[in-house]
Amino acid sequence: SVPASIAASLSTGARQGLLMKGGVVIEAAAKTGIVAFDKTGTLTQGRPRVTEVVAFGRSEAEVMELAASVETGSSHPLALAIIERAKSHAVLVRNATEAKAIPGQGVTGMLDGTAVFVGAPRHAMTRATFGNDAKSAAEQLEAAGKTVAVVIADGVLIGLIAMRDEPREDAAAAVAELKAMGVRSLMLTGDNARTGGAIAGSLGMEHKAELMPEDKVAAVKTLAAEGAVMMIGDGINDAPALAAASIGVAMGSGTDVALETADAAILKSRVRDVPAMIRLARATMGNIR
Ligand code: ADP
Ligand code: MG
Repeated sequence: SVPASIAASLSTGARQGLLMKGGVVIEAAAKTGIVAFDKTGTLTQGRPRVTEVVAFGRSEAEVMELAASVETGSSHPLALAIIERAKSHAVLVRNATEAKAIPGQGVTGMLDGTAVFVGAPRHAMTRATFGNDAKSAAEQLEAAGKTVAVVIADGVLIGLIAMRDEPREDAAAAVAELKAMGVRSLMLTGDNARTGGAIAGSLGMEHKAELMPEDKVAAVKTLAAEGAVMMIGDGINDAPALAAASIGVAMGSGTDVALETADAAILKSRVRDVPAMIRLARATMGNIR
């Protein structure tokens, strides 16, 4: 019977760490035409590491001390990467005053009377003048799939911190599997277009970059108007985009908020569980018909 095959599929899924909240979700998942993925922590490991520091007119240690001390005001993965790099290079990390995160942009704070900003190059343009050296260094790092944080002290650009967050090992295979099933894959990211494009290109998928959290919601809504869109995300920031999708799937050790908003969850952080979930949903609906 119909309820029995749905119940069987729900429990088959659950044994593999694929949770779906009922038959309505299975039905929607079976119709998925496009999967939109958040980048950081979903397609990538979510653990960016600093690969290089470029200093302008200051020592690398000074750049890192100012940057890391201000990043204490943020819990973003990039903030953790900068703080970790400072500590492992014996740079003193202090608590900046008035340190506060600006979502989708970076962080600001005061250290020893110096106003510091650390964040995305495109949001740094209005805060400091970029020399040609800084501009071309940032562009080269981004073309290599690295995320660049610009460090500005009292309105002067003093450094660039490059970080790389490696794609999960099974991400490219998952995208290929979806493609073979006739499902499109799209990466949504707040990162810049060069970095996002480099990573999406290496995974063989489409991308939309430089999205503020509300832009991700708008992008998902636009897609959902065209067909069934499954959105895969992990963090608190993704909850609104998960809610806007036909099916919102929380991946990994997602926060309680994301899990609550989600229609489904993938508990083992395997990107290949995305095609597995769609395949299970299709098989279930096929049995019913
Ligand atoms: P993502 O979609 O990759 O999770 P976010 O929307 O969180 O990105 O942030 C967008 C961009 O803003 C990041 O790629 C980064 O350039 C910048 N950014 C955000 N928070 C920070 C921070 N604490 N330190 C440095 N840069 C940051
Ligand atoms: Mg994110």
